[in-house]
Amino acid sequence: MPNGAPEVASDDGCVEKVRLLHTYMVAASDYLRAVQVLPERSGVMSKADYTRVREYSEQARKKAEVARYLMDWHISKHGC
Ligand SMILES: [Zn+2]
Repeated sequence: MPNGAPEVASDDGCVEKVRLLHTYMVAASDYLRAVQVLPERSGVMSKADYTRVREYSEQARKKAEVARYLMDWHISKHGC
């Protein structure tokens, strides 16, 4: 009987993992966008705007870090 197939944990079957991955990707792309804007616009932006974008990118980076941490934590606990 061909019954020896290993149990395959479906890669995209975990809704929570997908949700966390999505959160991470959104935050990471926010961060990348902010970081790309900084050198492009630093010459034309006011100092206040520059500071605002910098703060925004910093927050997005932290958000991405937290999301990635939660994702890693979930994967290690859930084994998905
Ligand atoms: Zn999971």
